Amino acid sequence: MTPGPGRFTTRCTAALEQALGDVAAYRTWRAFDPGSGVSVDARYRALPALTKQLMNLHAPAAFAAPGLDLAQGLRAGEIELVSTSGTTEDRIQNVWYQPWWDASERASWELNAHARRAATGDHREAILVNPLNVGIASEVPLALEQRRLGRFLYLNERVDLLSWPDGHLDRILDELALFRPAVLEANPSYLSRLCRYALRTGRRPFQPALITLTYEFPSLLHRRHIQAVFEAPIMSSYGSTEAGYVFSECEHGCMHQSTEACRVDFLPLAAEHASPSVGVLLITTFENPWRALLRFDAGDLGRLATGPCRCGRTDGLTLSAIEGRTINLTRTPAGALVTQAEVDRCLAEVPGLEEYQLHQRDERSYALQVVTRGDATAVQRRAGAALRERYGPGAEVTVSLATALAPEPSGKFRLVRAAFPMDARSLVEPALRPPLPPELWPTR
Ligand SMILES: [Zn+2]
Repeated sequence: MTPGPGRFTTRCTAALEQALGDVAAYRTWRAFDPGSGVSVDARYRALPALTKQLMNLHAPAAFAAPGLDLAQGLRAGEIELVSTSGTTEDRIQNVWYQPWWDASERASWELNAHARRAATGDHREAILVNPLNVGIASEVPLALEQRRLGRFLYLNERVDLLSWPDGHLDRILDELALFRPAVLEANPSYLSRLCRYALRTGRRPFQPALITLTYEFPSLLHRRHIQAVFEAPIMSSYGSTEAGYVFSECEHGCMHQSTEACRVDFLPLAAEHASPSVGVLLITTFENPWRALLRFDAGDLGRLATGPCRCGRTDGLTLSAIEGRTINLTRTPAGALVTQAEVDRCLAEVPGLEEYQLHQRDERSYALQVVTRGDATAVQRRAGAALRERYGPGAEVTVSLATALAPEPSGKFRLVRAAFPMDARSLVEPALRPPLPPELWPTR
């Protein structure tokens, strides 16, 4: 069922008024609200953004609706406390409320015709991820039955990707054939590794009806490896532990906002830094009594689609791509911002490139590590040339060979990083920059 604009606006207003009126964490935000005399969009625009830094200043209980007792909810097993696996500064303690999460996931299936068919709600789903993100972690091998949870099978229990024992990839392929999932959900980098192994060894995996990619930025290289082995359509999902499912890829490749689950404010980057079609995404979640998120900045950037999508969906925002994390932005020597997705689009054109990691060391030097297939020297030369062209005059690019690249301690791969911090707020178009709430005002 598609909500009309009336329904969406009503829910936006309710989320704003409930959070400002009743939720402790937003007590100081009330002073920013211009009130019901202006449009709901203008009311949202006047509010601060909920950064992870700000979120960590409050206890989880400060985000619950009045009358809800966190300790009681935990005792009753209605909710759980979970920590996200980010770096120290953006690690957050979350209140996990399963019914709300499930509803947000179900709403995401409506945004993709293949998902609507394959995901029935009682379908079998195999999950290939780092157990730090979801699942069961163990350094000793667990039997299949120990990794089955209802209709889910967790294919990997090992945290360290580089120490997977011989036979681990074969076991995953064997279990896919045995379990026969309708949906295979995966970290794109992990599935890429499995697909390259299948190609090398000539094993043809069991074919699910749908592949969904979550938890990390899907590189075009990963997608290509997956498409070389699997016939199933790929649906990339964008969301977070805090915000649930926010955008989902439709059958034509655009990312559509889940207006059933959330509101998204798009704050374009200032034109002096980047294309104004790239911006910060602030997420307001609907109807989670245990956790009201208002203008939550998950730290990611999106790129607005240039026109309507061929699928015909027009509700909410349509993005042509998720552009990667703000902390993964780099700069050209001339000062223009380059997103992770822009680096990825440029390197995806290099034949024989299997994996990469780019590190901007200072304002003009860029160190690229590559894993290659075939003529390594030619791949190195082409990758270096592609980056020199992207970063422009003055860019000093070095390319080195690696046999494998390691994920971050969080278990996720970081394809691009810069040695200097990037403050998202200062990059936003000045007229749309959210005000700082009193908790973050500089102290003398
Ligand atoms: Zn579409």
